[in-house]
Amino acid sequence: MEDRWDILYRGPLSSCNYACGYCPFAKTRNTIAELRDDAEKLVRFIDWIECQAPREIGVLFTPWGEALIHRAYQQALLRLGSMPHVRRAAIQTNLAGNLKWLEDADRETLALWCTFHPTETKVEKFAAKIRQLRRLGIRHSVGTVGVKEHFPVITELRGLLPDDTYLWVNAIKKHPRYYGDEHVEFLSRIDPHFPVNLRNHLSQGKACRAGHTSFTVDGDGHARRCHFIDRSFGNIHDVDFAEKLRPRSCPNAVCRCHIGYANLAELKLDRIYGEGLLERIPASFNASAGSS
Ligand code: SF4
Ligand code: SF4
Repeated sequence: MEDRWDILYRGPLSSCNYACGYCPFAKTRNTIAELRDDAEKLVRFIDWIECQAPREIGVLFTPWGEALIHRAYQQALLRLGSMPHVRRAAIQTNLAGNLKWLEDADRETLALWCTFHPTETKVEKFAAKIRQLRRLGIRHSVGTVGVKEHFPVITELRGLLPDDTYLWVNAIKKHPRYYGDEHVEFLSRIDPHFPVNLRNHLSQGKACRAGHTSFTVDGDGHARRCHFIDRSFGNIHDVDFAEKLRPRSCPNAVCRCHIGYANLAELKLDRIYGEGLLERIPASFNASAGSS
């Protein structure tokens, strides 16, 4: 993947139509002026992506809040899909918004990372949205947070999804003994890759793609190696930006999230996820299933 950059973009948008109790992000309401500023920054980022041809690019939007209900992000994804050098354009979403705009999406490029939040929507309603994605032939992963009180509804969701749709589970890690063996067994039956997420990966000094072929960008173009390292190593609009990317090792003690440890060389997760690494779809699962 030397000649491909995988870029995580997170602009200033911070509002969300949901209010999940476990949300690590601020539950804010953006003003119209703030949304306009976010949209302008987004367009500038997409313009920059356009100028990177012929280098292969993958983009994953990881907003603080829910972005896909905003037309600016729908337009950004459609635009990225029209660029031949963009191999993947994906976004994390709660899937609450209208999906009609996806009819115009490039099926090869676009992918959705869909998270089910049991306190905010009904499982049948969420599963119906997934069926809509399958009918449209849109690549998607489905996931949820492994809250113990939600195990019954997680079972229900698994039952409503087609067998070949991947359902990932994010482990709760704040309390080291939150899960007993039986909980880990249950969640590992739901998500065969749950044990990988459950671990805090010891990463200090280990080779990581972050800062070389993967990096994260904010609304002002500042680039950081990943979401878990605060220091910026440059700005994408600098003329010598590409020269600042190089192989590096991780300075942090541990790496906890898929969007981070997916880059950790020793885990070799590209062998499991293949082309679906960015949007979290293992190669052994059906990515879009346009016919069901
Ligand atoms: S949908 Fe996501 S961003 Fe919105 S409140 Fe829930 S966890 Fe937070
Ligand atoms: S291992 Fe994780 S925290 Fe360390 S540089 Fe890579 S992505 Fe960042």
